[in-house]
Amino acid sequence: MMARAEKHFRFVVVGGGISGVTCAEQLAFQFPEDEVALLTAAPLVKTVTNLRQVSKTLEDFDVEEQPSSILEKKYTNLKVIHSAVRALYAKQHVLQTEDERKFHYEKLCVCTGARPKLLIKENPHVLGIRDTDSAQDFQKKLCKAKRMLVIGNGGIALELVYEVEGCEVIWAIKDKAIGNTFFDAGAAQFLIPSLQLEKPEKALPCKRTRFTTERAPEPKTGSADLGSALGPDWHLDISLRGAEKVSHNVHVEYECEIEAIHSQQDFMSSPLYLQKGDLGVWPVYVQLTNGKVYGCDFVVSATGVIPNSEPFLQGNNFDLAEDHGLRVDEHMRTSEPDVYAAGDVCSAGWEPSPLWQQMRLWTQARQMGFYAARCIAAHMQEEAIELDFCFELFSHITKFFNYKVVLLGKFNAQGLGLDHELLVRCTKGMEYVKVVLSRGRMVGAILIGDTDLEETFENLILNQMDLSSYGDDLLNPGIDIEDYFD
Ligand code: FAD
Repeated sequence: MMARAEKHFRFVVVGGGISGVTCAEQLAFQFPEDEVALLTAAPLVKTVTNLRQVSKTLEDFDVEEQPSSILEKKYTNLKVIHSAVRALYAKQHVLQTEDERKFHYEKLCVCTGARPKLLIKENPHVLGIRDTDSAQDFQKKLCKAKRMLVIGNGGIALELVYEVEGCEVIWAIKDKAIGNTFFDAGAAQFLIPSLQLEKPEKALPCKRTRFTTERAPEPKTGSADLGSALGPDWHLDISLRGAEKVSHNVHVEYECEIEAIHSQQDFMSSPLYLQKGDLGVWPVYVQLTNGKVYGCDFVVSATGVIPNSEPFLQGNNFDLAEDHGLRVDEHMRTSEPDVYAAGDVCSAGWEPSPLWQQMRLWTQARQMGFYAARCIAAHMQEEAIELDFCFELFSHITKFFNYKVVLLGKFNAQGLGLDHELLVRCTKGMEYVKVVLSRGRMVGAILIGDTDLEETFENLILNQMDLSSYGDDLLNPGIDIEDYFD
């Protein structure tokens, strides 16, 4: 096919998720005289609203999925183009889209996110949850289901097993404790009883993100699997109810993975069927590495994500991280000149602060998109720019099992080896507080429940005060810690 019209833009951003939209908005704002193009495969774009700085580094915001016209109205120099990028010719500074259009850029920022790392591909009984479409597919399967199997132990799996009602959940995790991406075994122990309790009535209308569950218009071009990742509260507006009348019914299988998945027909005619006896009639049977076999209606694979870097790789010389992310330096630059990357698609390649680590999360997508735009601007104007303060301290605020959860710094003593000690305070059903100390200094914390400690602990972590002399008093509930350190 002949190449259609070629367009020139000073700035091109690829991806209409949080990182891409934030980057494009910031560029449009900083360069009102220039046109910024936002190329995206999905019909809707994500915008951040009501950004609230909870403390120095903790931030909370709402996210809205909006038609791109709203963005274009807000920034008249921002043009949103719905088309998936197929190839990048980095030397020529040209992008090619699925519909054979070419876009020339001076500076490019790749923000194409990541997709679920599906354990088993192309099996109709196995699905991943990433965007609005896949959440709808999941919901359709769930409403008729009596049993599902969830594999994975990260944030999505945690949310799912808690939120799903009316369907038995077999949760297979390869670790000794649930949620080990976010917690230690103690926090897992604190949370586990919530899975046995009736779920509380739905919380009051939540002030955070709501995602439309109406099907968005089909993209004009580009692949249907390239939607933006869902984010906080993605499940609030969809019913996560199966076909049964029970509330929670979760069974955890620890320290195991999937050995094989059998269709009903294969299973019934296999020696395994004779061995295992009558497991009931199910559409699919999952064999775990611990020898157990479960029949279920479907399987959710929630085992992490893979950055969407492929369309950009062919013929170029990108430094790719082990996880397939485009490696970026402290100015969000990839190894290809004038190509930046931000959000889930990139892997932070700079020497991080001892208190920060990359996690593919909503807040980091926003921070990276914003900072990438600032770096691009600084480089255009030949100005110096320092690594943003938000990369000083890892901080994340979220909700798991209906508890507020705040994670700070090396909350799981990541990378500290034996060089740390832990202080823990726990009140069953109320709060779980864990502090990580290294050489007498606080380097991380997990706060579950309404502890109100986040600001004080953030300060103690940031100022690296020697806390050796305070000992266990740090978590003594009889001491008002805020006053203590005033
Ligand atoms: P995305 O939001 O994935 O956006 C990528 C964009 O690139 C999309 O618009 C896509 O259409 C476009 N694109 C992809 N390929 C191409 C191409 N070839 N050409 C053009 N455009 C392309 N994070 C939290 O912090 N808290 C949570 O509670 C949380 N829950 C989550 C629950 C679920 C179910 C999922 C899937 C994720 C969750 N996350 C959560 C993670 C969070 O959503 C992501 O880290 C964040 O959205 C990443 O933003 P992004 O802009 O980098 O990528």
